[in-house]
Amino acid sequence: MATFEYKGVVLEERDCPHCKTRLEPWVGPPDSGWGVILVCNNNECEYYAGSKDDIMHRREDSNLGCRYAEDPDNKYNSLALVAWCK
Ligand SMILES: [Zn+2]
Repeated sequence: MATFEYKGVVLEERDCPHCKTRLEPWVGPPDSGWGVILVCNNNECEYYAGSKDDIMHRREDSNLGCRYAEDPDNKYNSLALVAWCK
């Protein structure tokens, strides 16, 4: 498994299982409890595109969606990162 270094953290090079896009490193907000996580930033990703209706109590004008992400600090377990649509 190929690895790379990002902000001093060694990470595996991982691909999104949904769209095969290379996951990009991203530093979580300080209050999230995350360190560096890997995120699928592909707006065409089926995981992202299909998630909008799954968020409960979503406001009509909300642009929130869930991106596929993996947490290297937790054995690369997958997680849903709620993010603003760009
Ligand atoms: Zn994806």
